Amino acid sequence: MKRADVIVVGAGIIGSACAWQLARRGLRVALVDDGLPGATAAGMGHLVCMADNPAELALCAYSLRLWRELVAQMPEHCAWRSCGTLWLAEHEDELALAEQKQQRLAAAEAESRLVSAGELRRCEPLLRHGLAGGLHVPGDGIVYAPNVARWLIEQGGEAIVRYRGSAVALEPQAVRLADGTRLTADAVLLACGLAANALLAEPLLRAKKGQLAITDRYPPQVRHQLVELGYGASAHASNGTSVAFNLQARPTGQLLLGSSRQFDAPDDVLDMSLLATMLQRATQFVPSLAQMNIIRCWTGQRAASADGLPLLGPHPVHDGLWLALGHEGLGVTTALGSAALIADRLLRQRPAIDDTPYRPVRLLTVEEVSA
Ligand SMILES: Cc1cc2nc3c(=O)[nH]c(=O)nc-3n(C[C@H](O)[C@H](O)[C@H](O)COP(=O)(O)OP(=O)(O)OC[C@H]3O[C@@H](n4cnc5c(N)ncnc54)[C@H](O)[C@@H]3O)c2cc1C
Repeated sequence: MKRADVIVVGAGIIGSACAWQLARRGLRVALVDDGLPGATAAGMGHLVCMADNPAELALCAYSLRLWRELVAQMPEHCAWRSCGTLWLAEHEDELALAEQKQQRLAAAEAESRLVSAGELRRCEPLLRHGLAGGLHVPGDGIVYAPNVARWLIEQGGEAIVRYRGSAVALEPQAVRLADGTRLTADAVLLACGLAANALLAEPLLRAKKGQLAITDRYPPQVRHQLVELGYGASAHASNGTSVAFNLQARPTGQLLLGSSRQFDAPDDVLDMSLLATMLQRATQFVPSLAQMNIIRCWTGQRAASADGLPLLGPHPVHDGLWLALGHEGLGVTTALGSAALIADRLLRQRPAIDDTPYRPVRLLTVEEVSA
């Protein structure tokens, strides 16, 4: 390859989506990845329109529109399913949360519908009796993110050249790899998740550990992604440990169960007591899970920014350095939207949505970085 236009560090779902988007807009991309499993390999792959604050909703809704344009072209191994989400109210008082969510989604033109307790049971018979009701969001879906990431890179064709190696140092418009290779380009885009802290020598992102469990294969019995309405509070908590019921029916017939959030646990060790709490919570919604076999449990680290929103755009101090980081628990959902915003800004085009809330300058002020 001639000198690349952009070096992308990290080939998880964010780096791959950015590389693909830049390549389709005519840029030559050098994509560097160290081959270690990141958040993309660990996550659930729920494409979900979260609406807990306006900026989160705007990016989710935009990205989901882009996903819907792409899914028809994706091969079967990307495991796209248009399952929708059923948000579950365990008690009557949570119905207010369902109504609020519906109003917020409507403001972003995302379709949703309140569902009665009886209807819940009719559409998902495994749910326990006595849930108060819920909210159906038909536009949500699921994918298998590691395969989507690989497929996006393939779609980039010769415009994307892959480098297997670890980026160990950033220089102006250059990246140095552990084997001594020095790549140069007009722009360098960091999409390497938590590893950005070390490369930037800055504690920009915080690790939020999550645990997941998956069952054996069973005849398909669950149609929607099921999530408790309290999930938003768990996802946005800025301290402590939390658990929220989240169940995804995989195309294999397996049920993928989440999820937990744990701060400052940067290892990959399973916390058995937390896992027990998660599974107990899951059986409160789907009692028959207690009769199913869990065949594997694992952990992953979400990369969280201080305000819970991703950092998308130019670094405020280092010329030619760009960031696509901090996607926490929504990086699969927001990957295509994030990539489009990065490409728009790099190419000096007007973005389709206001990208001010995601620009790194909000967290990396020039004064602080230069001090
Ligand atoms: C338990 C759990 C459940 C989740 N569920 C969902 C969900 O249902 N829906 C959703 O939208 N999101 C979900 N997420 C979040 C989502 O997985 C992440 O936001 C997303 O994967 C982040 O992608 P990324 O490309 O930024 O990071 P990563 O996937 O971590 O990719 C970074 C890549 O960079 C590489 N790298 C790192 N350092 C270097 C270096 N120095 N040199 C070269 N390469 C390097 C890594 O090896 C990795 O391949 C979940 C996350 C977890 C942990």
